[in-house]
Amino acid sequence: MKTTQSENLFTRAQELIPGGVNSPVRAFRSVGGTPRFIERGQGASIWDADGNRYIDYVLSWGPLVMGHAHPQVVAALQDALTRGTSYGAPTKLENELAELVIDVVPSIEMIRFVNSGTEATMSALRLARAYTGREKIIKMAGCYHGHADMLLVQAGSGVATLGLPDSPGVPASTAASTLTVEFNDLDGVKALFEQFPNEIAAVIVEPIAANMGFVMPRPVYLQGLQDLCRRHGALFILDEVMTGFRVAPGGAQQAWNLDPDITCLGKVIGGGLPVGAYAGKREIMKMVAPAGTMYQAGTLSGNPLAMTAGIATIRALLEPGIFESIAGKVSELIAGLTSAADSADISIQTGSAGTMFGFYFLKTPGAVIDDYASAKQHADTARYGKFFHAMLEAGVYLAPSQFEAAFMSSAHGSEEIQATISAVTQVFHQL
Ligand SMILES: *Cc1c(COP(=O)(O)O)cnc(C)c1O
Repeated sequence: MKTTQSENLFTRAQELIPGGVNSPVRAFRSVGGTPRFIERGQGASIWDADGNRYIDYVLSWGPLVMGHAHPQVVAALQDALTRGTSYGAPTKLENELAELVIDVVPSIEMIRFVNSGTEATMSALRLARAYTGREKIIKMAGCYHGHADMLLVQAGSGVATLGLPDSPGVPASTAASTLTVEFNDLDGVKALFEQFPNEIAAVIVEPIAANMGFVMPRPVYLQGLQDLCRRHGALFILDEVMTGFRVAPGGAQQAWNLDPDITCLGKVIGGGLPVGAYAGKREIMKMVAPAGTMYQAGTLSGNPLAMTAGIATIRALLEPGIFESIAGKVSELIAGLTSAADSADISIQTGSAGTMFGFYFLKTPGAVIDDYASAKQHADTARYGKFFHAMLEAGVYLAPSQFEAAFMSSAHGSEEIQATISAVTQVFHQL
């Protein structure tokens, strides 16, 4: 596979942009090699600067649930573009996307749009602190909630990949009010509530820990967190930036009957343009300025192009049968992956929910990864690196890190799935 163009572009990019990228995991640091510079996406495929084609399971890290350049999304954007790109004044589009989200996501009564998942979680925490008058928060080790200071403590995603314990530049005083517990450890959370009575403003959690690979919650875990929050007067914040419109149309909360006080959204709701949101109970959301006193703002928030892409993407996803068909392809792929691993005698742990999935190569056959400690202990990152590059050569684009989830879109057909399974089968036998 020829990669000269990508290599040249990356060399130049490294002189211009720190590490050559605008988000760390893109740089291939944990798998080695040169990141592919992408020129074009269409349906389930992307093409790099050297003209190589890949079946894409990164999908912009989740947003593109309808695939690249979906005709309805492109048409809506082209139409919106002729009317200008931003007004800094309210538009009907914001009402439309708000109505769509409120209709589908069970706990949400009001929503505020921002520009990224990071802004969503950062604002959600400010709101929880304002609402409760408390300062401490609980997050789970290995859960990634964006890069706001108080959440860069035991974070997953790029932080897990690079092995940074925390980030320099985060004030110790800020990190001090973030308490961390292992994912799936309900007793640990209970103990913190007992240790700090009336001090904890909120518990924030990813319903599936999908920024340290793919770790499903134990059956009573999320409900247990919600109950603990209610009992102790803290808010339950569900970070559905990744799982929203993916685990089910109404997110993990719909699939698993949860009732968070605040929900964070991003990724799919922007349809590939920068959008995030925090949303929840009317009584809590009414505290946000200018309705209330908690300040939060954004020059480009609710941007008309971004709203348009979100509306078109969600409308297309909600058409009858679409979500189920994407989820069906995930099952097909996971089944193929599992039987390929069995036949090559390779020990993997797979997980999936709705239209997202993930898998680990296990260093110790039969080990179980169910939190950050076990992910770091048992995941075979070296083997993943080899697998990743062999798959790339075979024309399949996966996340360049063992600690990230994978995504399916409506544009992935049986042809792509079968091609992926045969590539996996071949590569597993080489490993
Ligand atoms: C991606 C992600 C974020 C951060 O969103 P950005 O748009 O990258 O700032 C926050 N939380 C979760 C669960 C995510 O997956």
